Amino acid sequence: MPKNNKMAKNVIMFLGDGMGIATHSAARNLLGDEEQSLSFEKFPYTGLSRTYNVNKIVSDSASTATAYLCGVKTNGGTIGVDANIERTDCNTTLNTKNYVHSIAKWALDAGKSAGVVTTTRVTHASPAGVYAHVAERDWENDSEVAADCGNDNKIEDIAYQLIHGEVGSKLSVVMGGGKSYFVDKKFYKKGKRIDGRNLIDEYKAMSSKNAYVETLDELNRLNLNTTERLLGLFKDSHMNYHLETDAQTNQPTLEEMTRKALELLRRNDQGYFVFIEGGRIDQGHHKTYARIALDETVEFSKAIQAARELTSEDDTLIVVTADHSHAVSYSGYGTRGSDILGGAPFTPNDKTPYMILNYANGPSFKIFYDVEKHERHDPTKLIKGKPRDEYPATLPLASETHGGDDVAVFALGPWAHLFTGVYEQNTIPHMMAYASCLGNRLTTCTQ
Ligand SMILES: [Zn+2]
Repeated sequence: MPKNNKMAKNVIMFLGDGMGIATHSAARNLLGDEEQSLSFEKFPYTGLSRTYNVNKIVSDSASTATAYLCGVKTNGGTIGVDANIERTDCNTTLNTKNYVHSIAKWALDAGKSAGVVTTTRVTHASPAGVYAHVAERDWENDSEVAADCGNDNKIEDIAYQLIHGEVGSKLSVVMGGGKSYFVDKKFYKKGKRIDGRNLIDEYKAMSSKNAYVETLDELNRLNLNTTERLLGLFKDSHMNYHLETDAQTNQPTLEEMTRKALELLRRNDQGYFVFIEGGRIDQGHHKTYARIALDETVEFSKAIQAARELTSEDDTLIVVTADHSHAVSYSGYGTRGSDILGGAPFTPNDKTPYMILNYANGPSFKIFYDVEKHERHDPTKLIKGKPRDEYPATLPLASETHGGDDVAVFALGPWAHLFTGVYEQNTIPHMMAYASCLGNRLTTCTQ
């Protein structure tokens, strides 16, 4: 295949939170059978990303966001800061010399537009990597900061940074959940802020061309001719899992948000950088909801297909990856064409059936294991085809954990061939910047 060595006018980064290789391999089965492919699995170039961070072998979403957006590995739980800042340190979090900036800032500095789309709260760890600098990922609103650092702190919480920060205040598109993190309790019953602010009103007051929407209907009715910037907060916290939505929910799918975001961003002749996250694959896995995790992966795939259709691989680089893997295993000799979410046709030593998908650890241990009798319960009788079916875990933990194995990277468009091989996760934004002539290091334009 001839290499595309043109400059990438646009860069779209898709992040499947917690989408390890076992997850997207298993999700193919939901499309019909194991011969199917998710949209991004058809991209021409693939590589592997090594995800450990500065202090942990197995990473979290905050440190990995700093790696794949800002280009440096850092300490677990910290965002947009280098490893000189310890997690939850209320003093050093203010040291701006330790801040690292994301590719969204590099794009804005180059005159491009930038945006963030996610199915989690827009203040959650991965999207915050685009625009925030904090020593603690949980500082999503000021009451969380006050709980750790007292009321007399000078720290800007993540929601505040999204509305008023150097990068946040310039983002053209922000969509996801998390409304309650932006408003004080006294204005809104579910509000989580205690500083008397209504950041949504402040955003609207900045410009008559700043649009704010809360439902799919409002998003569809949006007049793009009078809209310069868009803030969509569709839920108080994370958006609903796709399997738990209906017409009443009135929330857009990740694909619908992606289409609208690209419609807005492509109006800039200079191009754009946008970060689009399938954020709840991870959250499904943490609760051992395998069905939800795989369905969220399929939704993620649909959004990428839409982006591919709306752009040209001539001038748009699309990079799809995950931040880290999960402790889910895809095993057990299932019969070809059988349901990946079902049991394996094989009798284990204890004669009790088992599933094709299992977790190394997680909260479901107690459901599937009788500690007194030292025996397993039959999971094929306990798993009934519901979204929130828990899948078996072999070790009891309150929340199933991330995995430390490499995650895949899929690339399409200008300089996509750079993304082959096995490399450190923090290389990714530098390669995207090289292709799109962003930042102050070597790029395809400076040669
Ligand atoms: Zn997680």
